Amino acid sequence: MTDTLDLGLLDGFERALINDRLRLVYQPKVSLRTGKLVRVEALVRWDDEKFGAVPPSRFVPLAERHGLIDPLTHWGLDTAFAEWARWCAAGIDTGLAFNISAMSLEALDFPDLVTAKCAKHGVPSDHLVLELTEGATQPLTNLMDTLTRFRIKGIGLAIDDFGTGYSTLMQLRQLPFTEVKIDRFFVTDAPDHRDSAAVVRAVIALAHEIGLSATAEGVETDAQLKLLAAMDCDIVQGYRIARPLPPDELAGWIDWWSSDWKRLGIGD
Ligand code: C2E
Ligand code: CA
Ligand code: CA
Repeated sequence: MTDTLDLGLLDGFERALINDRLRLVYQPKVSLRTGKLVRVEALVRWDDEKFGAVPPSRFVPLAERHGLIDPLTHWGLDTAFAEWARWCAAGIDTGLAFNISAMSLEALDFPDLVTAKCAKHGVPSDHLVLELTEGATQPLTNLMDTLTRFRIKGIGLAIDDFGTGYSTLMQLRQLPFTEVKIDRFFVTDAPDHRDSAAVVRAVIALAHEIGLSATAEGVETDAQLKLLAAMDCDIVQGYRIARPLPPDELAGWIDWWSSDWKRLGIGD
């Protein structure tokens, strides 16, 4: 059901999309072995005159329900790739992670569209990772063909929010993922709750066992960082490392983080 408020929001969102008033911010994901930036995750932002800052958890589902998810995805890919090309040109070595709604994967030509956009912007598709969560319409297993096509093109696939929702161990085994992102619910609790710590440790071990890398999201404290390092987690992301950043703040953050990483003394 869509109520009146939703219709107003939908209308506002459509206008923001058409008039290029959405923007992307980028949250660094760093290696827990080297401290180096691995890639940045693009996250969409909508600051509206009337509605204020509307979170993506509010408007992405609305876009999915009302046929606006493909235009949002296309806008996002072009915007993020253009920015990524500028970082490459400035000598910033980074990959890119991009959130894809499962609905966008239903189009069989979607993998070709993504590689065409990579070629258009001159960005390295083998450093692109698509982050997927279970969609409202069908389980990811129905999208096997499309997912396999991405892997053939060298594009990475991450299962997002692992441990919540509909993500299952079966999907990890059956689908061609390259990365597991452990939901921040478990990461937040891990230093103080043995159950959550056990889940995080087990998911990291399982990921490694089947050849995937493990990312912990929502890392906010030194205690979480150190615990994750002891658990052999590969990649970390969260406010402790960086908030999602406007594109022109990435270079400055890299300098700041390299000295912060040394101070942390992880891996010494
Ligand atoms: P997600 O992919 O799980 O993204 C991570 C969310 O956690 C982001 O919220 C990020 O700002 C937030 N976050 C990062 N580090 C921390 C931390 O240390 N602590 C806490 N408490 N939060 C942290 P955001 O930007 O509101 O995005 C929410 C969700 O909206 C995303 O979850 C993603 O599923 C979806 N989304 C965002 N941008 C896009 C997009 O361009 N396209 C699509 N299809 N979905 C998007
Ligand atoms: Ca994500
Ligand atoms: Ca997530």
